[in-house]
Amino acid sequence: MIYIKWLMLLVLNLIRHIFFYFIYTFNKSKIEVNHIRGKLLHSFFLSMGPVYIKIGQVLSTRSDLFPPEIIIWLQKLQDDVPSMKQVEFERVIKQFQKHKKIIKEISTTPVASASIAQVHRAILVDGTIVAIKIVKNGVKSSLKTNLKILSQIIFISDFVMPKLRPLQLKTRFKDFERLLLGQLDMNREANDMEGIRNNFENHPFLYIPKPFKNLSNSNLLVMEYVEGIPGKKVVSGLSGLKSIDMDCTPSKLVYRLIEVLFTMIYMDGYFHADPHPGNFLFTNKGKLNLLDFGIVERLTESEKWYLSSFYYAVIRKEWQIALERFTRCFVVASKELYDNWDIYKKEMISCLREHFETVTNTWNTSEFTRSVVTILTKYNAKEKTNWTKIELALVSIEGFITQIDPSVDLWELSKKFNERYSLYLSDKLKIIFDKHHHETIPLSLKLEKEADNILVAPTHLHRYFLPAHYPLFFKEAKGCILVDVDGNEYVELHGGYGPYILGYGHHVVKDAIAEASKLGSVCALGNLYEIKLMKLIVDAIPSAQKGIFCNSGTEGCHIAISLCKAFTKKDVVAKCEGHYHGFSDQGTVSSWFRVDGELDDPIPIAGSAGVSKSIVSKTVVLQYGHPKSVEKIINNADKLACVILEPMPASMLSYDKKWLISIHDVCSKYKIPLVFDEVVTGFRIGYGGVQELVGINPDLTVLGKIIGGGLPCGAVVGCSKIIDMAKSTLDAFRDWETKVFTGGTLSGNTLSCAAGAAQVNYLRKNMDIYERLDNNMKWLMNELKNVINKHGIICKVNGVGSLFTLNFRFRKPKYYREKFSGSNFKANVALAYYMRKYNIYMAELHTYFISAAHTLEHLQKVVESFDLSIEIMLNEGIINSYKN
Ligand code: PLP
Repeated sequence: MIYIKWLMLLVLNLIRHIFFYFIYTFNKSKIEVNHIRGKLLHSFFLSMGPVYIKIGQVLSTRSDLFPPEIIIWLQKLQDDVPSMKQVEFERVIKQFQKHKKIIKEISTTPVASASIAQVHRAILVDGTIVAIKIVKNGVKSSLKTNLKILSQIIFISDFVMPKLRPLQLKTRFKDFERLLLGQLDMNREANDMEGIRNNFENHPFLYIPKPFKNLSNSNLLVMEYVEGIPGKKVVSGLSGLKSIDMDCTPSKLVYRLIEVLFTMIYMDGYFHADPHPGNFLFTNKGKLNLLDFGIVERLTESEKWYLSSFYYAVIRKEWQIALERFTRCFVVASKELYDNWDIYKKEMISCLREHFETVTNTWNTSEFTRSVVTILTKYNAKEKTNWTKIELALVSIEGFITQIDPSVDLWELSKKFNERYSLYLSDKLKIIFDKHHHETIPLSLKLEKEADNILVAPTHLHRYFLPAHYPLFFKEAKGCILVDVDGNEYVELHGGYGPYILGYGHHVVKDAIAEASKLGSVCALGNLYEIKLMKLIVDAIPSAQKGIFCNSGTEGCHIAISLCKAFTKKDVVAKCEGHYHGFSDQGTVSSWFRVDGELDDPIPIAGSAGVSKSIVSKTVVLQYGHPKSVEKIINNADKLACVILEPMPASMLSYDKKWLISIHDVCSKYKIPLVFDEVVTGFRIGYGGVQELVGINPDLTVLGKIIGGGLPCGAVVGCSKIIDMAKSTLDAFRDWETKVFTGGTLSGNTLSCAAGAAQVNYLRKNMDIYERLDNNMKWLMNELKNVINKHGIICKVNGVGSLFTLNFRFRKPKYYREKFSGSNFKANVALAYYMRKYNIYMAELHTYFISAAHTLEHLQKVVESFDLSIEIMLNEGIINSYKN
């Protein structure tokens, strides 16, 4: 019956509209004809109901397909659809206030009315002005019926007309259906609105109104009322644009829109998937209010990674890699595809080149997708829904921005954005820095070539992931001053990544090394320095009863985990996402290189090639600071050999005492050894490490860096019963069965232990150093923040004790992955090179260090250089100012 009704409606509507079309268009100019077409299309979609109105909305962003006269009519479907009848509206409001009067006043005419819901301005009894979004009466059933009919028509058409199959209508329809049905639930919308609003807290130019979840229900959403110039006005000619500040040119607006959407997609993986003009309001300063969170999508960490890595390969014109990445993440491949891989590869590469190399000025996502789908269909393969999600949002926003600025070069813009988040220098930056470095560091550049021939890489971390475009070679380090081979002097913030808390070449350390060396350095032999250093450590670290020396933090973490495995006779390790425990297989799992899974339930992922899969699979990944981590420990308690974590993650520079206590408690309850990795924080965040500050005694503590005074040294210290898992029973047979072997020729050698003991002892006798470092850091942070505010840039300074970070992101992250995913790393890399111009040396991408050797004058120089560097970075367009 419904089919007959629907068919009659369709036929009658078609006849009516075609009839009017012929009558009205007779003898009319082309523009007039287009207007009539637009009007009739608008009327046709309206009379067919919500599903068709939605189709019309999607089409309204396609100025590449329709002339402006038609677009204007289709845009009316975005927020200017007839509202529900007055009596029905009144009934809904009455029902809403059945138990309690909430609304003092509500406008009867909606401020916007679209396919599924309408929005009214209202004043609550407490005087708050709100917008109330109400699902239209009858929409739910009409939507479901229409979707059912359409789905069957598509199914039949696909079956009887094979020519339609390349369009993959069935798959596309399924996505469309899911999205439409999702829009019916206002509770879900309120949650998504709040979720994305939280991600954009403190954003300089995007505002998302606050939903009042306690007042909302599944049919009705109460939210903060915001005003502005409707996006539709901005795209429909200059009248809207004119009301926006003259400073905010169309190209600036376009960049803002792209920035907002790309941040959601690429950085957060949580995005508004329907960003058409009807969902934006602009302030006269060019700020954006984003509305209507009916269609919101998510990308997993892996999907975000592959999306970025795909575009990155495209930018570098590495077509084969791009095609492999695209296929791996966004294609449901088929046997035919793999059987014909070489031909498929050829076709895809030519498609990529056509879209990203040949016709980039008219580039758009839907054209690209169309070409890809045509190829995939030949091999019985199809795009995955994750690509459709991205496509949907990109198509809307691309349509929107080309309407604002038809001359926009979309690919160039997207490229710029993608590039911002890659770690390597763009061509533009390379030109800038090449010149400077060729003039100032010729000897270092020469040495780089020499070193590159015989070393895996000329300097430290350039081996993997982190760039060192202009590695410096140093000949001298004193206090906080580094001197490179070309004779340039720098105030340094690098700190050798952590050992030099007293500054380079401190006299007590130098003297201790000289003395130990004079006595003839020894290793693998008992010596006094080893005892002296361990005694100092055991006295300083609250949880330490005894310990084991090794040569690095990596070894320390490895030994600690082995001791726990032997002690508990279990073999699964729980660790926190983003925490680095050295470069062993276990140490790098879900470390800072890669993360995966949900925020509250991360899944383990290898940190690099060469990591054993079995180690990855025997890891449980926790989210530092998240309450669900406790549950995760309980759920895996019978398998866990230990929980290892950085009590104050070096990447975040803050600790969550309450959470740490909850982890300690659950570990104690289930008898799971707790290991604190204090390789960075030990003797740095106070003499007794973070554990002293939070008052928690872990079972084991790993130390490194400072305890070697700048020479190789690591240690595991803790309770005797676990440390003694490495102690001989004096029964070789029993030892082999029960004990852990912790060898190391150079572990506890005299030079390292002498240097470490001298440094630690000096700290013990001069505890005021910690207070001084703390005060200096507070001063530095304050001054850096002043510079940031002066320039109106997006940058967060975070510091504690002698450590600080600069993140080019608007929001302070709570969880590691939020920081990892959202920062403009390229700005950090660029900053490091600009600062060199003013004789400040800092790592390209790392936490920055200050030492006891830094005076306020040195730090003043850092601040001045930062100010000058930011100024040039702004002038050269590396970063933007959002000052109004
Ligand atoms: N643990 C943490 C928290 C670290 O930051 C590091 C190194 O930076 C390590 C372990 C590994 O120490 P190492 O580099 O001495 O092997």
